[in-house]
Amino acid sequence: MAYTSLYRRYRPDTFRDVIGQEHIVRTLVNQIKSGNIGHAYLFTGTRGTGKTSVAKIFSRAVNCLHPVDGSPCGKCEVCLELALSGNFDILEIDAASNNSVDQIRELTDKINFPPTIGRYKVYIVDEVHMLSKSAHNALLKTLEEPPEHAIFILATTEVHAIPATILSRCLRFDFRLVPTSAIAARIRFIFDEIGVEYEEQAVNMIAAAGQGSVRDALSIADMCVSFCAGNVTYDGVMEVLGTSDPVKLVGFVGNILSGNVDEALKTVAEMCDSGKSMAILASDVAALLRNAIYVKTCETAAEILSLPEEQCAALRALGEKHSVQKMLSVLKTMTATEGEFRYSTQHRILFESAVISAATEAPAAGTTAKERELEQKIAQLERKVQALAKPGFKSAPAKEDAVQVWARVASELQKKGAAFIALAATEAEVESDGGVFRVKVGSSSCMKILTDKSNRDLLNEAFSSVCGQKLVIEEVKKLDEDKSLPYITSMFGKYLEIK
Ligand SMILES: [Zn+2]
Repeated sequence: MAYTSLYRRYRPDTFRDVIGQEHIVRTLVNQIKSGNIGHAYLFTGTRGTGKTSVAKIFSRAVNCLHPVDGSPCGKCEVCLELALSGNFDILEIDAASNNSVDQIRELTDKINFPPTIGRYKVYIVDEVHMLSKSAHNALLKTLEEPPEHAIFILATTEVHAIPATILSRCLRFDFRLVPTSAIAARIRFIFDEIGVEYEEQAVNMIAAAGQGSVRDALSIADMCVSFCAGNVTYDGVMEVLGTSDPVKLVGFVGNILSGNVDEALKTVAEMCDSGKSMAILASDVAALLRNAIYVKTCETAAEILSLPEEQCAALRALGEKHSVQKMLSVLKTMTATEGEFRYSTQHRILFESAVISAATEAPAAGTTAKERELEQKIAQLERKVQALAKPGFKSAPAKEDAVQVWARVASELQKKGAAFIALAATEAEVESDGGVFRVKVGSSSCMKILTDKSNRDLLNEAFSSVCGQKLVIEEVKKLDEDKSLPYITSMFGKYLEIK
């Protein structure tokens, strides 16, 4: 039998099993109970936060004959029929792929016909932002006058790319990043169910690595189960994730901060011998310092970083011993070194000299009034940067750095009074590679803002004040105009007019 991933196997069937989205679940359950159902919903949020799962539960709940607490009962004839694949009442369409022509053909002309099993026909359109402009217009026509029996649930990770005309017709629900503790509880439940042994710490680490996405966390859990052969250990998870042991890392960073060169170099030698990449180590150190600065300066750091409590406590202890300036200066040394790795073949020497120079810098004086003032200013700046950065951006260290640079650019723009350019900028994906800083814009309106002559000048100015790389702005390819129009017409049949 083919292996089913944990994510698929443990997809929630009822609203009660959905984790971390209580604000959304409560509203939807109330709608089911009162029978006050809308015709168009927009689910937005980072990947893996439950948009499609909630859409599926909702589409069964609106049809169920005897909903239990607003959730589908799973037992009535309608529920049983809808559970079969190939029913015509709940239709899932992936707007990101235009090759599901066969699936689309099945839907052609069917929107006017009443549902075959339940009361409603539900169209779940995934990645709806991938539709072309004309496809969006076509969809809008349908949303303007939907048949009584039709419900649309549009799901997207990129809400800024959805035209305002569509937004205004939808009831919008913003899915949040799921807290690490909730993900950890879910993983423990699943491991108990499938009879896998685990260390508590290991589960926390997997949950944290998911960074708010249940799907990502469960994929990692899947890998760990295979790798650890039925007993998921902390060491095993670390191996799978390729990260440094956080406890060891905190000790290492503590030694650098206290000027304990001898001990710090011993750790470098140890890590080097065990085959650890010095570039990854430098980026791990930078990430840890960044987190420590957050924890020290920002009250809601634990929430923002979604780190396990033990790790927060360790970072707090580190922050109590060292000033923000000292941590910042080591952070700067590390990030500068990260950039040099690609031009050097002597990674160990490069990293060691960075460690020595960071460790031997004059330690900052005690906490004076001036220092506290500065710390507060830095905390404010950090919060601003956090507010501007997109949630869930922490996918890869290199990417994270680019995102931080970009957030600083946005903050510069905001200071110059160009808030709307800053806003458009934060909607883009960024990456930095070989001296080129690439900005990938997914929406043509943002593209227009960023490339307009005078805006571009402002942007260049802000960018060069933050980063010395070459700035390249490009529009990310969307669904082909020619392909997507027939696609959406076949999807909604004669119910719409195309302009
Ligand atoms: Zn039912």
